[in-house]
Amino acid sequence: MEVCGGQTHAILRWGLDQLLPPVVRLIHGPGCPVCVTPAACIDLALKLARRPDVVLCSYGDMLRVPGSDPGQDLLAVRAAGGDVQLLTSPLQAIALARRHPDRRVVFLAVGFETTAPATALLARQAKALALPNLSLLVAHVRVVPAMEAILADPASEVQAFLAAGHVAAVMGTRQLEQLVERHRVPVVVSGFDPAELMAGVLEAVRQLEAGEARLSNAYARVVTPEGNRAAQALIDAVFEPADRPWRGLGVLPQGGLALRPAYRHLDAAALEPAVAAGDDSDPRLCISGRILRGLALPPECPAFGGACTPQRPLGAPMVSSEGACAAYHRYRR
Ligand code: SF4
Repeated sequence: MEVCGGQTHAILRWGLDQLLPPVVRLIHGPGCPVCVTPAACIDLALKLARRPDVVLCSYGDMLRVPGSDPGQDLLAVRAAGGDVQLLTSPLQAIALARRHPDRRVVFLAVGFETTAPATALLARQAKALALPNLSLLVAHVRVVPAMEAILADPASEVQAFLAAGHVAAVMGTRQLEQLVERHRVPVVVSGFDPAELMAGVLEAVRQLEAGEARLSNAYARVVTPEGNRAAQALIDAVFEPADRPWRGLGVLPQGGLALRPAYRHLDAAALEPAVAAGDDSDPRLCISGRILRGLALPPECPAFGGACTPQRPLGAPMVSSEGACAAYHRYRR
């Protein structure tokens, strides 16, 4: 299983899956932060975005992810008059908060350990500047607990992981070594270009054929055992690991990040009463829960390419530029 959606897109883009012998099957993992943000979190963002005193901002793909009501996403709220803004960097929220002193700016913060440092920087700046009108709706997730959950699923067929190179660049490889020790499964840190991905697959196959299970780094030009200590320190200063629901995977122990007490005054969730968590799967025909757990491929979904396309997505994996369904649709599998 390649964990990262960016790797899934690269594999399909370059046709690597078609070059491999049938005995090697690539299963696509839950490594798309947009796809795994739970519907209850989107519902809360929608509720906040409808308030006239709120400016809701986030990354582009998040604006099209449906909540529990399939017809409702942040773009629909914007079309109905809500102030929903697209950011390319979390720090842009500071300028927004200064531009709208009479309103509350809420940043919907999603992503793995790769984007959490930038959110942490935003939190630190907001605190240092004592900005009274900036809040964070935090939906950051941690990758290793998701890999643990996949291995714990009796239906899982995963025999080896290609670990996400960007996450390992930030977090280092030690957490992954512990995963290997606990589960005796090969884990190969891989990059994103065709040669790096194929080197990762080759290393995983070699280990499986030799009956070995080791942590191996096939992305050594970027990833070190200790990772990016400055980024880790930023995450650690602002966030603490917390149980968190993932769309399609349920609540994962220590599966996400929550604001530490010193930063909880920034928590946008406190602005609205909790949104009742409903059914957290995508609607009707959508089998995104099975796709995110690697139990099905997008073309196995009855809606793929028909009722569900990137222009009219039914579920998050078709919305996101890193989603598996979007990859299969784009590269015509
Ligand atoms: S093709 Fe669409 S409906 Fe089917 S699983 Fe993917 S996102 Fe859901």
